[in-house]
Amino acid sequence: MPVELSKRIKAIKPSPTLAITAKANALKAQGVDIIGFGAGEPDFDTPANIKQAAIGAINGGFTRYTAVGGTDALKDAIISKLNRDSVLSYRREQICVSCGAKHSLYNLFQVLCEEGDEVIIPVPYWVSYPDLVTLTGARPVILSTAEEDGFKVTPQNLEALITSKTKALVLNSPSNPTGCAYTDEELRALARVLIGTDIQIISDDIYEKLLYDGAHFCNLAMISETLKNQTIVVNGVSKAYAMTGWRIGYAAGNEEIISAMTKLQSQNTSNPTSIAQVAAQEALNGSQDEVYRMRDEFQNRRNYIVKALNAIDGVSCLLPAGAFYVFPNVSRLYGKSFNGKEVNSSAALTEFLLTEAKVAVVPGGEFGSDHHIRLSYATSMENIEKGVARIKEALGKLR
Ligand code: PMP
Ligand code: GLU
Repeated sequence: MPVELSKRIKAIKPSPTLAITAKANALKAQGVDIIGFGAGEPDFDTPANIKQAAIGAINGGFTRYTAVGGTDALKDAIISKLNRDSVLSYRREQICVSCGAKHSLYNLFQVLCEEGDEVIIPVPYWVSYPDLVTLTGARPVILSTAEEDGFKVTPQNLEALITSKTKALVLNSPSNPTGCAYTDEELRALARVLIGTDIQIISDDIYEKLLYDGAHFCNLAMISETLKNQTIVVNGVSKAYAMTGWRIGYAAGNEEIISAMTKLQSQNTSNPTSIAQVAAQEALNGSQDEVYRMRDEFQNRRNYIVKALNAIDGVSCLLPAGAFYVFPNVSRLYGKSFNGKEVNSSAALTEFLLTEAKVAVVPGGEFGSDHHIRLSYATSMENIEKGVARIKEALGKLR
């Protein structure tokens, strides 16, 4: 007898970025020579000091349940980090540590949103935001942006979407998938629209450390003390410290919201892994040299991949300010065919690239923008060179 699953779970789809990464890995395991631009995770190893801290935790017996929302020591490391990097001050009661920033976002949407609420999500968006909102019964409201504006939200477009039902706005800068990052000036313009509303701002700062050409990081909480009180900062160690597998993320903000998130977490996962918490503490408190080294390497790769993609007929790619993704516009190729099969969408192009170029990318449609594809350049320069050459050759076969 078929099982009748809940309406809630039937309303969402599996994470497409993780699904594509799994598909590319399965092909690799079968011996197919796939170059993966799918996974949004650093290819670097976790820095040695961080691994050593975790080994120390295991050997020292730090292997039991901790406080649900994270240890005081890790919360203090997060408080120092936010103070040092962003001049934002928080108390321990304003911090909740979870099993990755994705978990923080899940908890946050669950405690904030319900049926009838609207959550504004600028497009192109990270794949998980709409589904995380949908799970709560609230409605994701997609805010359009223009490629000519660097995919950034304008104050006019934001204002036009705000209704009495608007519960929250998600802002992710630097952005997954476009790599665009807001300047202080641009944030100030958005702040003027948001001050005086009761909209909760969800600032997903996970790519904060990956900004290029000397750009500095800013978010809405840093722009205005008023907005700080209505902003929940979400961050984690996955991207900056090459720690995707350790699963540590955190949220900082309003004590009532944080306390509700901690209550929810006490009923679902309990604390994040004790050992990973010690590792994250070292990541935040220890030397940041490795972060800068990885960032500089990402910058070199970005420079190469953007130039190489723009040299392909039919492809145009903005220079991203941060993160490790490029989001080239490939719509000029739509309508062309190969072996009688027309390529007319980002999904079709992705399929074509997987079979003809043996290259895995993510269709822009998954991020709400079907004219684009996403490539993660968190892979070696050698792979990037080889992969882009393969893409160029395969696209040259389209007629
Ligand atoms: N936000 C964005 C924009 C991301 O790209 C990711 C990557 N998975 C996350 C949050 C979650 O990161 P994690 O759960 O690994 O901390
Ligand atoms: N954030 C990364 C990506 O977009 C990792 C996968 C995921 O969690 O979505 O590819």
